[in-house]
Amino acid sequence: MTAVKLSGLIGQPAAAAFLRQVVVGGRFANAYLFHGPAGVGKGTAALAFARALLCERGAGRHAETASLFDAPSATAAAGPRDDACGECPACLKSGSLQHPDLRFLFPVSGEEKELDQTIADTLQQLREDPLYVFTYDKAASIRISLTRELLRELAFKPFEAVRRIVVVRDADRMREDQYSAMLKSIEEPGASTVWVLTTARPHRLPATIRSRCQRVRFAPLDEARVADFLEARAGVAGKEARLLAALSAGSLARALALRGVKPIELRNQALALLEPALRGDASELWRAVQRAAGFGRAGRESLRGIVEFHELWLRDLLRARYGMEKEQLANPDREAEIRRQAATLDAREIRRRLMVLEETLRAIEGNVTADLALFSGLARVAGQRLGEGDWPRHAAARWDY
Ligand SMILES: [Zn+2]
Repeated sequence: MTAVKLSGLIGQPAAAAFLRQVVVGGRFANAYLFHGPAGVGKGTAALAFARALLCERGAGRHAETASLFDAPSATAAAGPRDDACGECPACLKSGSLQHPDLRFLFPVSGEEKELDQTIADTLQQLREDPLYVFTYDKAASIRISLTRELLRELAFKPFEAVRRIVVVRDADRMREDQYSAMLKSIEEPGASTVWVLTTARPHRLPATIRSRCQRVRFAPLDEARVADFLEARAGVAGKEARLLAALSAGSLARALALRGVKPIELRNQALALLEPALRGDASELWRAVQRAAGFGRAGRESLRGIVEFHELWLRDLLRARYGMEKEQLANPDREAEIRRQAATLDAREIRRRLMVLEETLRAIEGNVTADLALFSGLARVAGQRLGEGDWPRHAAARWDY
């Protein structure tokens, strides 16, 4: 994430334009809530916004220095800045996350006594790796000790800047008492702190917090843009980039996190699982599902991945039916097969299969045994009900997928 600016945000034109207009306007809410799907750039935008607010040549200019040094120069002629300049002392500090008035909180997991080290390590990785992706385990949270320290600090004036910016990543991972303390600060009139909260789960924040924040919405990224980014900046080969982008459902972070896997190979294995179902071989289908579930440590996760590959395949069949070009397919490397199958399956049958897979995904998420859910999902996609007496022949079932 090195030294990001609002002008460099990827694929969020509406949010970026809004934030730049806020920076120019020079009037700031006490708190902003950046919400939208995970991995679409909310955290990056929050830091970019913070930098713009701290920039000494723009929104962060001290009034007294402005009167002394601001000749009606080129900057004035160009109008007020809507972004960090990237060059002033404040920008240099904020760019390496070392500005004393930029506080950056994010969820962490692990032992309390290793907390400082964990945070220092994370920040270091974030500085060094422009493709760094935050990943949390289920129990990760924004630690109480950190918010306590922060709230003590808020009683004092900012160190260097006009105002202090507190960026809280994934602000939904806090406890009730943390929210009430935060709320007090947000409600304080004339506060010199601007809060920027990000979340993919806004409903988990107390309504009292949500209602006091200026909300900024972030949308899923365009798949083509994610694919381009993967190819240009993350060194992913073209056809893999396309598939990862399709799998990511518009989340760049998810696409980046997946880049270690061999997506083409995984997809081929996933699609091959349907073969025993198509042959009507229940016991082989069951064994294949068991093998698939044992792949990674996270069985449920890999089962979900398998279903998603099947969904992408079916969506490609629909795309092919609607006459879309090769570049619009998630699986362009298997275009010939896709076109052949698309010609033999009608759209209703493809949708039926997609609905079965959607149900399967829900069952995998829910309490149903995940491997059983995949087993029966694949059997039903193939138009069968394995192990339930006679197999009713589905009207439109085909055996060539
Ligand atoms: Zn600057």
